[in-house]
Amino acid sequence: MSPKLRPVVVTEHLFYFHRCSRRSFLDHRQGIVHQPERSRHREQVLSRWPGTRPVYQPPDWEKGFQATLTLMQQGAPAIHQGVLRVETPAAVLVGRPDILIREPGTSRWGDWHYRPLDIRLGQRLKPEYQAAAAFHSWLLAQIQGVWPYWGELALPGPRFLRVNLAQALPSMHQTLAACLETLKQNEAPEVFISRSRCQLCPWLDYCSTVAKQKHHLSLVPGVTQKRYQELQTLGLTRIEELAQADPMELYHRTSLGVNTSNKLVRQAQAIAQQQALAIAPITRLPQAAIGYFFDIEADPYLDCVYLHGVLLVTPHKQEFYSLVAEQVRDEGRIWQELLLLLERYPQAPIYHFCPFEPQTIQRLGQRYHTPPERVQAIRQRCVDLHARLVRSVVLPVENYTLKAIARWLGFQWQHPRADGAQCTQWYNQWLQTGDRSYLQALQRYNYDDCLATYHLYRWLVEFMQKQKLARSAG
Ligand code: SF4
Repeated sequence: MSPKLRPVVVTEHLFYFHRCSRRSFLDHRQGIVHQPERSRHREQVLSRWPGTRPVYQPPDWEKGFQATLTLMQQGAPAIHQGVLRVETPAAVLVGRPDILIREPGTSRWGDWHYRPLDIRLGQRLKPEYQAAAAFHSWLLAQIQGVWPYWGELALPGPRFLRVNLAQALPSMHQTLAACLETLKQNEAPEVFISRSRCQLCPWLDYCSTVAKQKHHLSLVPGVTQKRYQELQTLGLTRIEELAQADPMELYHRTSLGVNTSNKLVRQAQAIAQQQALAIAPITRLPQAAIGYFFDIEADPYLDCVYLHGVLLVTPHKQEFYSLVAEQVRDEGRIWQELLLLLERYPQAPIYHFCPFEPQTIQRLGQRYHTPPERVQAIRQRCVDLHARLVRSVVLPVENYTLKAIARWLGFQWQHPRADGAQCTQWYNQWLQTGDRSYLQALQRYNYDDCLATYHLYRWLVEFMQKQKLARSAG
């Protein structure tokens, strides 16, 4: 087969294939070449091995490879974003390790050879990280005539982890073969929207449109890929079909439990009817004349809680407090300010969304040696609205994030596309530039999160009252 007809498989196709075969297919068809994200971690690791970057423009891999080969032949101490290219009968394989590091030893060029280092942003060793490292090691072995000592990953910290090639190579080759098979197909693999893997995917808008056109079951929260396969065996592939299904039939003919079967059918009904439906009475939702609506922003890489947003609602007014650490070292000061603010009304509930806020209160209490009884008193007042909601109500939403829920309730964020990651990026830009507009943007975003939490609380109280009325009328 001539090189022109063979698919060109780059590291990213293999890497994303682990998460979603459809993404590799779409990227490949559109010729998309992802560039590594800029990050402090990346800059930090690259600066440990100052090196040369071959001159080429993706996707001119041939030029990139020739430039990289010249540097390797010359024995450059480190090569950044070099290109490794190997032609096989089935494909042209292209790897782009972040750094190629020269080591003593022998290779076809002399008494040195190279080993690959990949910089990754995740905290744990993921299969796709290992596959990419094994891919780079294999390519390098074909090019330099000797295996690298090891493939290596630099995770945030930085933590350097060696990849066991004996273990990683066979599964990499299997994945590569499956990936090649997918890339040769005429049609993209079936869409399946999954929040955890689709959230950061550039194809999300496109895939969501396709899924909505098909009324695809993956739009029903709780339908995982494994559950979808089981539902398919019962002939259920569209939202309306699941909405009309008998939960007991699901229970008897699949591995789903009785509660899950009920909840999935009810969830599909909520989407099909475009309305909120009760699944259980709302319990343990304290209501008080004074309440705090609380949201935290933190940067895991800086290990810093940089913002406490608190909306204090009393019968007469609403006041918003934005306790921001303008420098990382101010984290302790804003923690003390938060304690005083939350202790102003020691009986008032503290409403938040998901467990991050009470967990962070616990962590900050330990870090700053706050008396445990003081921390405990605050934690006992915390009310997780997300937990209350998902136990009792299903909504016509695709997921139960604060964004999706509050949007359905009619709430709008001033920055509609912002999220926690964007907020942290703004914080880093503020630290680097001192430009206050970044600080203002993240404070505004956090304010909207607190307002949205308040909005959700009021809706829950109203929904609960309607339920009570309906029950007493019935
Ligand atoms: S949006 Fe989801 S289904 Fe679509 S390509 Fe991305 S990860 Fe795959």
